[in-house]
Amino acid sequence: MGDILSLNCNACGWIKSGFIGHGFNTLVNYEDIENDLPKSFKKKLDQEKFVGLVSTPRVVVVCSSCSQIGFRTHYEAQDIEAVHRCGRCGSKAEIIDDPQTLESCPKCGNAALNAECTGFWD
Ligand SMILES: [Zn+2]
Ligand SMILES: [Zn+2]
Repeated sequence: MGDILSLNCNACGWIKSGFIGHGFNTLVNYEDIENDLPKSFKKKLDQEKFVGLVSTPRVVVVCSSCSQIGFRTHYEAQDIEAVHRCGRCGSKAEIIDDPQTLESCPKCGNAALNAECTGFWD
């Protein structure tokens, strides 16, 4: 079961919410989703001649450059992981394991961000 996470800024009112974690259907056969996968990730799996299950949890990513926050589907298989890029500036976006540690608002830059779980999904 995954969480529905809501992020909001006490300073400027910025708000964003989305799904994070694992649901029932987040383990998927590679051949069923290979055409949906990010190209660089698919290429690595093909190089390894990978067959089997790909884990597709929902994650929060933060841009290392402009601090943009996004909700994404992550992909991992064995020790190969998809790389995330910021939708705004294209820099590498890091996965945040614990969204409670997020502080800086991507809009106003103040350390006034709140993360709360507002529900569940599966
Ligand atoms: Zn703000
Ligand atoms: Zn960015």
